[in-house]
Parts: sequence; C-alpha cells; structure tokens
Amino acid sequence: MSDKSKIYLFANWKMYLDYDESNILANAIAAQAKSIPTSVKMAIFPSALALYPVGQVLHDVGISLGAQNVYWQDKGGDTGEVSARMYKEAGCKYALVGHSERRHLFHESNSEVRKKLEAILDEHLTPVICVGETEKERAENKTEEAIEIQVRAAFHNIVWPKDRELIVAYEPVWAIGTGKNCDPIEAERMHQLIKKQVIALTGITPVILYGGSVKPENVAEYLKNPNINGVLVGNASTNLESWMNIVAAVR
Ligand code: PEP
Repeated sequence: MSDKSKIYLFANWKMYLDYDESNILANAIAAQAKSIPTSVKMAIFPSALALYPVGQVLHDVGISLGAQNVYWQDKGGDTGEVSARMYKEAGCKYALVGHSERRHLFHESNSEVRKKLEAILDEHLTPVICVGETEKERAENKTEEAIEIQVRAAFHNIVWPKDRELIVAYEPVWAIGTGKNCDPIEAERMHQLIKKQVIALTGITPVILYGGSVKPENVAEYLKNPNINGVLVGNASTNLESWMNIVAAVR
C-alpha cells in the first residue's frame, strides 16, 4: 500500500485567472493557510505571468509553486517559450508535463513530453507527468494500452534523481474540464496499473494524483482509495470557496 501520510492537493489554474485575479486568490488562500492540515502538500500552478508574485505570497505560508508547461531548451531563439530553468529561477518547485490540454490542443507528442521531462529533472524541479486516455480509446477498450504507451515513453530508461519524487497524474482526457469525473473505483484501478508499470520501469514507487472534474462534493471519494495520493484540480481550484472546501474534505 502507498504511503498516505501526505495528501497532495495541486491546483492547475490554467488560463482561467488573469494577473489581478491570480494575486487576489493567492492572497486569500494565504490568509487561510492556518486551516490547511499539516498532512496536505499544496502546490499552485498559476499562469506564467502571475507566477512570480503569486509565488512570493505562497512561499511565506509553505505552499509550493509550479509551472503549467516548460520548454526543453534553457535559452535561445525560441520565441514565446519559457524554459524549465526560467521557471526554477522564478521560484517553482514543480512543473506539469504532458497535460492533456498540451497533448491534445497543442499536439504535444510523447517524445516532446520526454524532452520536457528531462529538462525539468535537469533543473532540479519535480515533474508531474500527466497521462490519460481519450473517450474514444476508452470506448474501444484501449484504455490500458493508451496509458501504458504514455507511461513507457515517459520513463523507459530514464535515470531518476535520488532526491526527486516521482509524481504521475492520472487524468482521463474525457474527464478534464467536462464535469464528467471518473468513477473513483475505476480511478483506483488505473492508479494500481500505473503504479505497477512505473515500478517495473524505474524501481521507484510513484505518487499518483487523480485529475478530472474533481470538486468538493467528490474529492473524498477519491482520497479514501489506497493508491490515490491526492488530486490535481483545474476549475474547482480557481475559486476560494470551492478550493478551501476541497482542503476541508481532507479532514
Ligand atoms: C486539470 O486541468 O488538470 C483538471 C483536472 O481540470 P478540471 O479539474 O477542470 O477537470
């Protein structure tokens, strides 16, 4: 059984909040930080432009900062990109990689995900590798195959730094931002499968988060499962009340 002494609550603000909204929400969360149980590891993934000031506010209350995406080059003529090194300098501890919106809206391939993952590790950040099947793959009974391909591409022959946690987010594409969450029992089954595969590839026991339409009303149903170490939350993390209700569900 996985170690459940820590519960990971990771908030992906995507492009939902502008600069002012991000700072207002970060300050409001920081003001309530005393009500966050010590068992919770919280990280916020704001937009790139809001990241620095949000990080300053969160740092003082022990909440970590993460990047939503990185580019694999450190520096160069890569107009519009932001490197893992730059995110590290701005105060990030974590970086998402292979989020379904990156894979599907921006056509990121498994090999690009792998290059980003390696760049994140090189900069001493902790990657959160997102994997998930599409609705079509699930309908065609190809869920396990789809996940295995993504997990293998991310971890095959990788040298994992000894000082780094290995975090995977299981995020079924059909559940992201749709309001259709995955049945928690099915999510637990997928987490077991991912755990087995990651251990076979790396020898490391991963932390696995569930993501996909998590809300205050359903979060406890996920967290009670032995292999669900926490949640990655989009929409419901962008509002103070619903985020703090998700935090309250941990108790
Ligand atoms: C996400 O973007 O990682 C996510 C899980 O989104 P939502 O909670 O809105 O489905």
